[in-house]
This record gives sequence, C-alpha cells and structure tokens, in this order.
Amino acid sequence: MLGIMTSETAEKLINRLRQMGVATEAVLAAMALVPREQFVPPPLRRRAFDNISLPIGQEQTISQPEIVAMMTQALRLDKPNLNRVLEIGTGSGYQTAILAHLVRRVYTIERHKALLDGAVERFTHLALADRIQVRLGDGTLGWPEAAPFERIIITAAAMAEIPPPILSQCAIGGIIVAPIERAAGGEQYLVRLTRHAAGLSIASPDWTHLGFPLIGNAHLGPNVVAQADFIAEEICPVRFVPLVSEQLPSSGESLSAALKRLNR
Ligand code: SAH
Repeated sequence: MLGIMTSETAEKLINRLRQMGVATEAVLAAMALVPREQFVPPPLRRRAFDNISLPIGQEQTISQPEIVAMMTQALRLDKPNLNRVLEIGTGSGYQTAILAHLVRRVYTIERHKALLDGAVERFTHLALADRIQVRLGDGTLGWPEAAPFERIIITAAAMAEIPPPILSQCAIGGIIVAPIERAAGGEQYLVRLTRHAAGLSIASPDWTHLGFPLIGNAHLGPNVVAQADFIAEEICPVRFVPLVSEQLPSSGESLSAALKRLNR
C-alpha cells in the first residue's frame, strides 16, 4: 500500500514517523494516502511534509504529522468492523481524511464555518465525502443523534476534563483519545480512555493498581470518577491550544473570557 505514495517528501515523512515509533502499518499507509499539502494554505505547501504544525486560518493550526500519527495509532482502529468514529475539531480535515481511510464512517464537528467549508471541499475532491458526516457547532456537546461511537478523538484542544456528553456518547468497549491538561497552562498528555464492558466497572476511584501510568482522577473530571468505568492511559506529552467551548471554560480561562473570545 505504501507504494501508492506519490512524492519523495511523503515517503521521507513516513520513514521519519516509523523512526519515531509509529509502528501501526495501517496508520502509516493511511498517512501516505492523504496529500497533506492539500490541507495547508498554498504559500506553506513547500513545508507540508515537514514534521511541524502549520497555520490553517482562524488562528488554528493543523497538528504536526507525528501527533496525528500518534493519535490515530492510539485509537486502535485495527478492530474489524469499526463503524462510527467521532472527531471533535475538524480544522483542515487532515486528521478526518486519515480516519476515513481506516473506518467506515467519520462524524466530525467544527465550530468555524470557514474551516469546515474548506474541509468539506477537500473531502469531496479526495472522494472521501461519502464516508464523512460534518457538523458545524460546539463539539463539546458531541453528536447525540449518531451516538454511541466506538471511537472518539478530540483534536480541538487540551482540556482539564473530558466533557460529560463525550463520555456518555462513547460505546461500551469504546476508546476516547484526547489531550488532557494537568493544570491550567500546565503539562499536557495524550490520554487514551477505554470504556469498560458493563459489569466490569471499577468501583474504587483509586486506579493505581492498574499497572500503567494514570492521570489522577481529579484531572479527568468528576464525571469519570462518578461513572468509574473508564481506564485512562497516558500515551505521550503533547502541546495543544486551549479549548474553546460554548459549554465549558478551558482551564485557566473564565467562562466570560471564553465567551468574549468566541464572539470576537
Ligand atoms: N485535526 C485538525 C486540527 C485541529 S485544530 C486538522 O487535522 O487540521 C483544532 C480545531 O478545533 C480548530 O479548527 C478549532 O476551530 C476547532 N475547535 C476548537 N474548539 C472547538 C469546539 N468546542 N467545537 C468544535 N471545534 C472546535
């Protein structure tokens, strides 16, 4: 499948991702199939295959390929017959397009109309539109009509906690991958939450016995502790912009400041 790659630069990028420890061949193959240069503004195309984030307008950025690869890999999309993946933060649509090569249907939410319109144009051009459903709005509310989702990926921003609607829209046995912020403006980690089968709920809020690094419950928000049926794993440190939500202030930002920012 990697033979389909068109440019030498794309091939270099894939090799670099491999060296960085991205080992899932299906993820690398999907990344090789999506022309990143079509997702960045024309003056920046030259740099599309460098491992850096790039501006896409509306003060937003397309994540660096390494993060896109790590997040996609963390979703564990290798289970057969994955039907529904929800993405929060369409942006340029680059991550969405990669997901669309790996699963049957991607639902993606973006709050900036101009960005969403651009992404839809690219999906159509790449013949991926029939696998991608888009919604303009606040992704922290999720997409209740299409829930439950087997996989949920938050690329919008780092949060201090996963919004409760997102938790409840994750299927039993499903996975959420999201950047989590430990403290306002503090360290951020890519986290994978796996929802337990009903009946396997962890009653104790002390998860330290699970044997892998965990984010303290407090950082995952009261809802996780209350439901106590998600296991959290840290994947790697990351750096995302703060969340803009009509619902929740991002950590370190008051709701009024967030609203002011939204309406500017
Ligand atoms: N995955 C994207 C990059 C995401 S940039 C890509 O591959 O290009 C983060 C995006 O999330 C931005 O487009 C931003 O407008 C959007 N966003 C931020 N907060 C959001 C929210 N609450 N709901 C929906 N989208 C949001």
